[in-house]
Amino acid sequence: MRQRTFLTPTLREIPADAEITSHQLMLRAGFIRQTASGIYSYLPLGKRVLRKIEDIIRSEMDSAGGQEVLLPAIQPAELWEESGRLGDYGPELMRLKDRHNRDFVLGATHEEVITTLVRDDVQTYKKLPMNLYQIQTKFRDERRPRFGVLRSREFIMKDAYSFDTSQEGLNESYQSMYQAYQNIFTRCQLDFRAVEADSGAIGGTDTHEFMVLSDIGEDTIAYSDSSDFAANVEIAPVFVDYIKSDVSPLELETVETPNVKTIKELTAFLNIKSEATIKSLLFIVNEEPVLVLVRGDHEVNEIKVRNAFNKATAELATPEQTAEILGCETGFIGPIGIPEGVTVIADKAIESIVNGVCGANEKDKHLKNVNPDRDFKVSRYEDLRLIQEGDPSPDGKGTIQFAMGIEVGHVFKLGTKYSEALGAKYLDENGKSQTMIMGCYGIGVTRTIAAIVEQNHDDNGIVWPTSVAPFDLHLVTINVKDVDQKQLSEELYQTLSEERYEVLYDDRPERAGVKFKDSDLIGLPVRIAVGKKASEGVVEVKIRKTGEMLEVHVSELQDKLK
Ligand code: ATP
Ligand code: MG
Ligand code: MG
Ligand code: MG
Repeated sequence: MRQRTFLTPTLREIPADAEITSHQLMLRAGFIRQTASGIYSYLPLGKRVLRKIEDIIRSEMDSAGGQEVLLPAIQPAELWEESGRLGDYGPELMRLKDRHNRDFVLGATHEEVITTLVRDDVQTYKKLPMNLYQIQTKFRDERRPRFGVLRSREFIMKDAYSFDTSQEGLNESYQSMYQAYQNIFTRCQLDFRAVEADSGAIGGTDTHEFMVLSDIGEDTIAYSDSSDFAANVEIAPVFVDYIKSDVSPLELETVETPNVKTIKELTAFLNIKSEATIKSLLFIVNEEPVLVLVRGDHEVNEIKVRNAFNKATAELATPEQTAEILGCETGFIGPIGIPEGVTVIADKAIESIVNGVCGANEKDKHLKNVNPDRDFKVSRYEDLRLIQEGDPSPDGKGTIQFAMGIEVGHVFKLGTKYSEALGAKYLDENGKSQTMIMGCYGIGVTRTIAAIVEQNHDDNGIVWPTSVAPFDLHLVTINVKDVDQKQLSEELYQTLSEERYEVLYDDRPERAGVKFKDSDLIGLPVRIAVGKKASEGVVEVKIRKTGEMLEVHVSELQDKLK
């Protein structure tokens, strides 16, 4: 590519509103331009990096058995109503009307679209498992778009969705995506960690985030210095110390609460205010700590039970299995159902939830006038010591370190949340109708570019890792008016391109100082400068990363580049 007519508007000054290095450098080196707050255009260099990352993602997704599709960015609002998310998603969801006054949304994510697609076109177990993915623009009206393409309102995501017939199948699909993500971020030459995460608004019970380690990251990660253990500190209750206390039985008024399914319905029915939700409870059963991760509604049909201090035994359990483990009846299990004879260590949220009401361990019944201290042995979150830097790791290997991370990828086990809501069913071997079991898997493609720049730069500019660099080589003619330099540069441009190197050729009539500054700023892995020694066939090669410079005769150039 000849730079004279190439759109790379470099800037000498640091743009005033760019707070972090990657944003500054991507603007200064001419990779992106802001079109509106949180909305960016990708100039040719930016687009080439985007394509490199997309190619890595495609190759790993395809090897993992993914099938690429392209779903619409505009989605009918009814789909989101059907899944129950239209209200829940809030102002982050961009909404619009068509000329017939019909409601639409701009896709913030695609569970609804993909689930209905598969519902309508996959009918039998013979077609499953299936993994469908796309690379596409997403829209989220972020409250605070910032840091350039790191948190924007329009961005490119790779999203994949798996459909299975069993929990074991889902576990396999999840594992294969987890491995694909390891491969993808390794190929992007990022320093990253996969961490246990909180399932948040999307639902589901088992999830990991892929975090690029960086001080500008918005998440805090606790990880072991000598094993794979790593978790987002959002799920801090994992780290509580073992606390044992006596048990007191419940003696409370029971009220009938027929057909109440969600906390919203419950609070409306009982005319109380609380809408808090609990994300996790630590039960102590037979003196063994068991962590139960639950969602704050009654629609949960999978609950994760595990020994809080032994990651290796982590597994998903159905309500029946959970009840068996906890030694109590089913029907009560939910965030506000607490079995008799079980000590609960709760986070702050339980105080507001049990302020007056909790589950009665019986279908369609709740207990009123609950007082946490009187009726349960509740150890408050505040009393528990969260894990600290230097603590032994929960898996017994090494000690805990803290780091900040940028979330570039996220994998979830969704279960049947969307397939149930949207009726995605199939016929099993016995001709019986069953609900599909889903997983979903996202990568912020444009955010990944910014994360790479955060980890790969110096005072002079970006230092692209070879696998994602917009070009392999920067060929720079120091003086384009010099006949020998011009001729040798043209020859090299042709032969190197024929050798399948991607070459950015600076043929601009600019001063050498300007060209070298721009070259460092753009940050291609190798610079080849054609200058005074052109008549002898000698060029100067500079390795961007190390700053190493060497004079090379063109006859040895290709060997040196290998
Ligand atoms: P965050 O916690 O940063 O808001 P998220 O958890 O809301 O991200 P997911 O719903 O998990 O995001 O989406 C999958 C991936 O999409 C994220 O891991 C991230 O890499 C990317 N992503 C999410 N929001 C944005 C955004 N506003 N700008 C750029 N990339 C984003
Ligand atoms: Mg978000
Ligand atoms: Mg997140
Ligand atoms: Mg996420």
